Amino acid sequence: MTGTVHPSFDDVPWATAFVRLANHSIACATCSAVDEQGWNLNLPCKAIDQLNEKYRQSRHWERHVRPL
Ligand SMILES: [Zn+2]
Repeated sequence: MTGTVHPSFDDVPWATAFVRLANHSIACATCSAVDEQGWNLNLPCKAIDQLNEKYRQSRHWERHVRPL
């Protein structure tokens, strides 16, 4: 087993979910809404809820397939 020093980002099960989550929070007007002081308002967003859940599940899954 030679070649890759670092695992490819694509090989990490939760990476895709994480990228989607990050991209959404930047692009979504609801998720990126801030008050006059610049604090995130944490407005409820169904899309981010689903992405969070997928991310959480993929991390959960990873813990089960990878023995410590
Ligand atoms: Zn959103």
